[in-house]
Amino acid sequence: MEHFYTIQGEGFYQGRAAYFIRLGGCDVGCVWCDVKESWDADKHPLFEVKSLKIEVEKTPAEIVVITGGEPLMHNLDELTRELQEAGLQTNIETSGSSPLSGSWDWICLSPKKFKEPLPEVIAVANELKIIIFNKSDFAWAKKYAALVPASCKLYLQPEWSKAAQMTPLIVDYIKAHPQWELSLQIHKYINVP
Ligand code: SF4
Repeated sequence: MEHFYTIQGEGFYQGRAAYFIRLGGCDVGCVWCDVKESWDADKHPLFEVKSLKIEVEKTPAEIVVITGGEPLMHNLDELTRELQEAGLQTNIETSGSSPLSGSWDWICLSPKKFKEPLPEVIAVANELKIIIFNKSDFAWAKKYAALVPASCKLYLQPEWSKAAQMTPLIVDYIKAHPQWELSLQIHKYINVP
């Protein structure tokens, strides 16, 4: 769908330079999705894996973030192998709702109620990022925190359009449950892609 070099705005790698590859296609259907234009993979051009790697290598990027859409709707074995062979770190942002493929240095699982994640992805999550759209999402967060590995980092992130209402509730929740951390979409505050 698009690829660009920017700053990771969310989660554990927030603030780090990263090359983003956004893949078309998503069957999850979040009502508040901010990339609905990604949903239909057929509306986006196909790229050769090697040509994408060449684009990344034109930059000093060390981290490549594969996102979407739902990137696991594609088999990502070849793409991640090429990137890792080039010495690049492979990170994924996924809802975990499609079968796991690819070789990953970091898996950010962001489970969505509209199509729940598969156990095989939950079991290997390095980071759990829960989008808080309404109060019931705190129970959703608690449910998945109990399922991910003990070493998994835990983040609560306000849905962008609800940030003014939800951020104070998130702050209170984190103060009461300090195993969680706040994730903000800083790229939107500083107006970078
Ligand atoms: S999983 Fe991501 S891309 Fe798919 S509908 Fe939800 S927010 Fe949008």
